Amino acid sequence: MHELSLIASVFDVLEENARAHGAARVTKVVLQVGRMSGVVPDLLESAFDTYKQGTLAEGARLEIVDVPVRLCCSDCGGEAAREDSDFSCAACGSRRVEIVAGRELVVERIELETDGA
Ligand SMILES: [Zn+2]
Repeated sequence: MHELSLIASVFDVLEENARAHGAARVTKVVLQVGRMSGVVPDLLESAFDTYKQGTLAEGARLEIVDVPVRLCCSDCGGEAAREDSDFSCAACGSRRVEIVAGRELVVERIELETDGA
């Protein structure tokens, strides 16, 4: 499953961050998921729940931020958010567009908790 290997790399980031901050627990994880990332949010959530067992993030909540597709036009330089099926420039109608957002899967924020010792 695609989502499981993505979650594995997310956990590498979590564990690295928790260690760097001397945290005992991860309480919340916010992930940016682009609409064109090919990731199914439901599967990502269940992969997260499976993977977190026995880790620092066992009690963590996962929040998924939906990132819309943004296109940048090579002809007029315009940039705009577009629906998934329409890959043309909103300003001039050119099809020479580049996808500048919507493919990402990034850790936006991690909330950590220390034991305070
Ligand atoms: Zn254009």
